[in-house]
Amino acid sequence: MSEGTIVKALSGFFYVQDDEDKQIYECRGRGILKKNNVSPLVGDYVNYTSLPGNQGVIEEIKPRKNEFFRPKVANVDQVLLVFTHIEPAWNQRLLDRFIVMAESVDVEAVLVINKIDMLNQEQQLDMETNRQLYEGLGYRVILTSAESGDGKAELLDALKDKISMFSGQSGVGKSSLLNMLDPGLELKTGDISNKLKRGKHTTRHVELFPLANGGYVVDTPGFSQIDLSIIGDSSLIAKFFREINEVGEHCKYRGCTHTAEDSCKVIEYVEQGKIDAQRYKHYTELVEEINDYNKNKY
Ligand code: GDP
Ligand code: ZN
Repeated sequence: MSEGTIVKALSGFFYVQDDEDKQIYECRGRGILKKNNVSPLVGDYVNYTSLPGNQGVIEEIKPRKNEFFRPKVANVDQVLLVFTHIEPAWNQRLLDRFIVMAESVDVEAVLVINKIDMLNQEQQLDMETNRQLYEGLGYRVILTSAESGDGKAELLDALKDKISMFSGQSGVGKSSLLNMLDPGLELKTGDISNKLKRGKHTTRHVELFPLANGGYVVDTPGFSQIDLSIIGDSSLIAKFFREINEVGEHCKYRGCTHTAEDSCKVIEYVEQGKIDAQRYKHYTELVEEINDYNKNKY
């Protein structure tokens, strides 16, 4: 039996890229899968039997690490959050919300700061400040220019042997970065860009693009806004703001929400400038939003 990854699903066929020979096999699912009520998903790691003519039969789906519903894909290892300081301007609020989304589904967040070729001196300083802020929190930050090719090696290194998804506002350079990464994808450039641009309301088939150096990129952007329903309770929000979570351990009250309590360590740190005021603001906004959302739910 061979091992591979489902990179595309279409009309009852699953297209499996073989781990060894890297060829694509057009597979059916073995009946037993249906009987067990598992349907193969793009992103699934599978065991399959190959048949002549690059065909095959999927015998077994390996346990999934996770499962996304929009786009419908399994085993995403990381989300690359693409942001810029110009065209469009830096949007830390969106970044902090994306980080919450990623961490709430246990997927690693990597920050990609693109268009570094376009920055004037002042923007460069801002970029450095932001880079240090997020690196200080323990996030990997990759500086790129799809224009000059800066950061390409580091980006490829981050993507190696993983399933990655790009997220970010329109115009930040997601499709340009993909095109920069793999000359082998160039043939499909228009395709990728169109797919990335079509947005989340179109129902269509998700596909993984195999990278020459190993690893796959999901051809559709991940989350575009925060989904409050998956977070559930505002008390969970602190968990996704690492520094607030850490400092919050030392608050006097158990269950301190870090929003108004006396002798709250988090508030103290914000006042002392030890916790970034913007991050804190985004935290309190989300707490409020989730509380409102839950109130209106009933
Ligand atoms: P997407 O909507 O996130 O997929 O963004 P695109 O890849 O379509 O890029 C939007 C625009 O920004 C295009 O005109 C790109 O040529 C341009 N662009 C993307 N990355 C860079 C970059 O690193 N530097 C510069 N100068 N322009 C870029
Ligand atoms: Zn507190």
